[in-house]
Amino acid sequence: MIQEIFEAGVVGAGGAGFPSHIKFKTKADHLLINAAECEPLLYTDQMEMEEHSEEIVAGVELGMEILGAKDGKIAIKKHHEASIRALEKALEGHPKIELVLMDSYYPAGDEHAIVFECLHQPLEPGALPSSLGAVVSNVTSIRNIYLASKGIPVTHKKVTVTGEVNSPVVLSVPIGTRITELIQRAGASKLENYAVLLGGPMMGKMLLGKEIEEAVVTKTTGGILVLPLDHPLIVRRRQTPEQIRKQTASACIQCSFCTELCPRYLKGHPLHPHQVMKAFGFNLPDHPNLPQASLCCECGICELFSCPMGLSPRIVNQLVKKQLREEGAPKPEFQGQGLNPLEFIRRLPTETLMRKIQVDKYDAYGKPPYETMETSYVKIPLSQHIGKPARPLVKEGDWVEVGQKIAGLEEGEMGANIHGSISGQVISVSDQWIEIKGGNQ
Ligand code: SF4
Ligand code: SF4
Repeated sequence: MIQEIFEAGVVGAGGAGFPSHIKFKTKADHLLINAAECEPLLYTDQMEMEEHSEEIVAGVELGMEILGAKDGKIAIKKHHEASIRALEKALEGHPKIELVLMDSYYPAGDEHAIVFECLHQPLEPGALPSSLGAVVSNVTSIRNIYLASKGIPVTHKKVTVTGEVNSPVVLSVPIGTRITELIQRAGASKLENYAVLLGGPMMGKMLLGKEIEEAVVTKTTGGILVLPLDHPLIVRRRQTPEQIRKQTASACIQCSFCTELCPRYLKGHPLHPHQVMKAFGFNLPDHPNLPQASLCCECGICELFSCPMGLSPRIVNQLVKKQLREEGAPKPEFQGQGLNPLEFIRRLPTETLMRKIQVDKYDAYGKPPYETMETSYVKIPLSQHIGKPARPLVKEGDWVEVGQKIAGLEEGEMGANIHGSISGQVISVSDQWIEIKGGNQ
């Protein structure tokens, strides 16, 4: 099975794209499925469950078999009722797999939150789920593992397109489709000039102008949020590191609200963003509080919800982590402090968060329709995963079929294979992309 998962190019679909054949090459007691749909406004995972619940459950059974796990748990928000109904039906006759119903809070899809909800124990700071005998997989990835067992590689991805578009929609598209095509399919943007948060409002990557024109759907794309250029989420992300440094030095009042609502701090991790802000603001590069930043999961609550001064502890943590990496600082050891007794009552309801970050009007659209979309051109990145980029196996002028391996790695290398997502002719090959124009030979 590990070989089949490798061949099919399965990676973590909800995060950075960790290769699944490496994640599953281990033994574990519990297989935990992240079906929380963490980012506000997205319906991507919900559609995956509503459309493919049988294949997801078959994937969990298969994953448990590979790991030698004694149980499987699917963590899902309790108000995602249609997904729950679909899964409950598919779970009949699968007594070792259960649903774990979660409240609607952010970041419910953080790996530490999933482990805590399923196993009722907090992970230690910096620890992996394996320290509690668990492997965590995204709901799309586990379906892709099932498909891999049938010889079907990863060629398509579901994506929610919402925000300032005329007809929000969830689309299943070939990997490599331009995101401008998805925006057109969603009825086009209501705005002449706009920004995109690729992935969602909290942790999505901001794209502007030419970046939007060039961006394509990858194995990890879950959402396209179209926003006005003057939306507070965009204005904030356009700040330069230097602006952030100056604001931190001049405006942090050390109120510690950023710490009090930090989900990692509340899980008992020694992360106190207000302390990192102080050391960073005073420009103390060797301060012993700075390495705490490495515990930050970059959820953005401190930056977008907690701070009364409009500061960015999340970005400061990113800058500090980068600085420590560049200095080659050793990985720090941290001692857990035990679950904070206020953890439950300080969880941030998703609806409250959406109001605060001013995206609640897009939530009022309700659940979008689900459609499949074809395209006549794809530009498929060779690196959609953690590890080495795949090496091209085709050349300009070759004809390829959907599902044909077009770039690959040797078994044992960290990375993932890449497959054609449409049938057609290869029109260019570089060390970053393979472009295919649809058609028949
Ligand atoms: S919440 Fe803002 S002002 Fe308060 S300590 Fe944190 S960064 Fe400083
Ligand atoms: S982004 Fe802020 S709130 Fe989130 S984990 Fe990091 S410090 Fe805590």
